[in-house]
Amino acid sequence: MPELPEVETVRMGLEEKLQGKHIRDVDVRIEKLRFAFPERFAERLRGACLRRWLRRGKYIVVDMEAAGCLIAHLGMSGRFTVLEEAAAPYVPARHDHVIFTFEDGTRLIYSDPRRFGMMDLTAPGAWAGHRLLAGMGVEPLSNGFHAGILADAASGRKSPVKAFLLDQRIIAGLGNIYVCEALYRAGIAPQRPAGSLTPDREIPALAAAIPAVLRDAIAAGGSSLKDYAHADGSLGYFQYGFAVYGRAGEPCRRAECSGQITRLVQSGRSSFYCPECQL
Ligand code: ZN
Repeated sequence: MPELPEVETVRMGLEEKLQGKHIRDVDVRIEKLRFAFPERFAERLRGACLRRWLRRGKYIVVDMEAAGCLIAHLGMSGRFTVLEEAAAPYVPARHDHVIFTFEDGTRLIYSDPRRFGMMDLTAPGAWAGHRLLAGMGVEPLSNGFHAGILADAASGRKSPVKAFLLDQRIIAGLGNIYVCEALYRAGIAPQRPAGSLTPDREIPALAAAIPAVLRDAIAAGGSSLKDYAHADGSLGYFQYGFAVYGRAGEPCRRAECSGQITRLVQSGRSSFYCPECQL
């Protein structure tokens, strides 16, 4: 499932290839994704210009000025692919659900085998008030995210810090993978009550680790994206060298630590951590 860095990488790639292009037509080949498409979806998009590409949490937001805003979520398996005009004749594949064709012949194809993704439209400038975005917490890569806001949100909470960080109403866009990675970097065990983190040391360490982990992943994604896009025009996921995620049973990567990465199930989801250096 794509998390914030994957979505940000996709956003950057799409912006680079499609910014300023005008939509000629939209072919919706499926009744619904996670939700039904908005009324007159294709008609409302026809002629629209993709001006600004934004991200809120794991949502991509395209500001089309007078034509409104397009909101998209990749769900579990969504993928955007850009086909340049010069590409060979295109025949939609089985899971190609939405095909945008631009004035210059470029195509943007949304495919999603599991259909948990979504697309919606809002009035001009109204994306932030969309029902799925309105209640979201602070963006972890924004200036609004800092130790003070994390300390306030964590104060008095008995829930594990892992669940606390996954709560989209507190911090937008964090998922299982990067929460595990950030807690490892900050040296904090995932089962610790959020309210028990020390304000002088652990809260600042976590507030620094979260954006650092995300930025490293985006940087890794940006470089692999170039090669991938060069190969077949796709914009998608990338491999990232995780420190703990998916490494159960393997040695901790800290040179001075003899611990072994351990898997722990919390609220039905796997947490990976080092019991030696995450306290
Ligand atoms: Zn360790």
